[in-house]
Amino acid sequence: MPATPIDWKARAAALAIDGRAFIDGRRRDAASGETFACLSPVDGRLLGAVARGAAADIDAAVAAARRAFDDGRWAGKPPAVRKKLLLRFAEKILAARDELALLETLDMGKPIRDALAVDVPSTARTIAWYAEAVDKLYDEIAPTAATALALITREPVGVVGAIVPWNYPMIMAAWKLGPALAAGNSVVLKPSEKSPLTAMRLAELALEAGLPEGVFNVVPGYGPEAGEALALHPDVDALGFTGSTRTGRRMLEYAGRSNLKRVYNELGGKSAFIVFDDFADVERAAKTVAASLFYNQGESCNAPSRVLVHERIAKRFTEIVAAEAPAYAPGDPLVPGTALGAIVDETQLNTVLGYIEAGRAEGARLVAGGRRVRQDSGGFYVEPTVFDGVANSMRIAREEIFGPVMGILSFSSEAEAVAMANASDYGLQASVWSDHLSRAHRVARALRAGTVHVNQYDEDDITVPFGGVKHSGNGRDKSLHAFDKVTELKTTWVRIDPA
Ligand code: NAD
Repeated sequence: MPATPIDWKARAAALAIDGRAFIDGRRRDAASGETFACLSPVDGRLLGAVARGAAADIDAAVAAARRAFDDGRWAGKPPAVRKKLLLRFAEKILAARDELALLETLDMGKPIRDALAVDVPSTARTIAWYAEAVDKLYDEIAPTAATALALITREPVGVVGAIVPWNYPMIMAAWKLGPALAAGNSVVLKPSEKSPLTAMRLAELALEAGLPEGVFNVVPGYGPEAGEALALHPDVDALGFTGSTRTGRRMLEYAGRSNLKRVYNELGGKSAFIVFDDFADVERAAKTVAASLFYNQGESCNAPSRVLVHERIAKRFTEIVAAEAPAYAPGDPLVPGTALGAIVDETQLNTVLGYIEAGRAEGARLVAGGRRVRQDSGGFYVEPTVFDGVANSMRIAREEIFGPVMGILSFSSEAEAVAMANASDYGLQASVWSDHLSRAHRVARALRAGTVHVNQYDEDDITVPFGGVKHSGNGRDKSLHAFDKVTELKTTWVRIDPA
């Protein structure tokens, strides 16, 4: 018998929201008793009151995390035991799939079908992957003289602070939590004030799975209050930050002003998508860029928002992209067929509309979309928008928009394409489309970006590092390399006397 489809609107109406922080194994109001209103971008309704965490709450969470670390209740467990408990945590995330997906959709506006198919499973897979990895990592013995034994071992850093953005709330949190917890650290997570709800549920599920109290704490609140207090805290050993370049700069200052904690920044992007005229399947390239850019309402750090197309195929390419745009018409995120949901809040909506206006004013040609829609819903929706005739000097080509807005630029030579792609403050990702093997490799090598895709843009997996260069940051989330951020190398010299 086919399963009865879920009535997401009925579930949303019945959902009980608990906006309290999660500190030392239990839910808590903010020490000040203050809350902030958590509004849904889907229809503007109030989801609930969320604890407005600040310095006192961060102090309590860091103290709990420190106690949990120092007494060895987590770090002291054999890796195989941490693995077992984290695998149970991952199973609990999957078991809570519908609830977590619904919270994510209501809180930040993404389509429920994506929250179900991507955000929840990817979060669980991240936790499970690091759990599986941690009892397979060996330390090193240095090639010293016979008079000594030098051990190079990895130790957890201690208390890890994690500050994350709103665009993939659970996934971004999991990229920090997976390696930090698996390695034995305690964590204090500060979710975005725009999408705080799933973080606290994750912490509850971790406790239910058997992670000891104090190992995973969540303090919701505003950036300049809870976020700043965490980043300045003298007892936080490492800070994993994902967010805007503007805030990333502050993270480095906070570290300098406090205890020189290690800071890893995963910041914004303006990824170039370069299509050469030797690539035969123009349609595939055009459809891929539309799908990738409009995914998650364009609110992806790696969205390919600068599309560089060889002048010989630019017209055809643009026509295909413009014809694709209506397939991404914004809809109710709670309706399973919707491909493009709501923009996270009114502030971001106005930012996106401001960039569309700037594109027009600077002389780019609007070929699709450009308007706010579904206003009667009470939520925040923007049409998938495409500009062509964009110049690299325009704001829409230089600045991160973080919305469903694509700019198409044209070039006439390989050298020009590489120069245009690299003429950006950002360097997160890039894509090269060419049927010429040497050209594809040559250009991939020449691009200054943390990840380069060749003839595709969809591949992504926990097995590879994710991060950027230049103003896109210095950290690498995902893969075994992420352990480097949450562990210290220790050298132990042992003298060996001759017989
Ligand atoms: P943001 O910088 O405004 O906020 C990110 C987090 O920092 C939030 O939790 C916020 O509360 C906190 N914060 C803000 N001001 C702070 C302050 N003064 N002190 C301490 N904390 C503060 O970014 P956002 O709008 O939430 O997220 C969008 C940005 O994130 C985009 O630039 C996007 O490209 C980037 N991002 C990057 C990656 C990556 O892996 N490189 C992934 C996802 C998103």
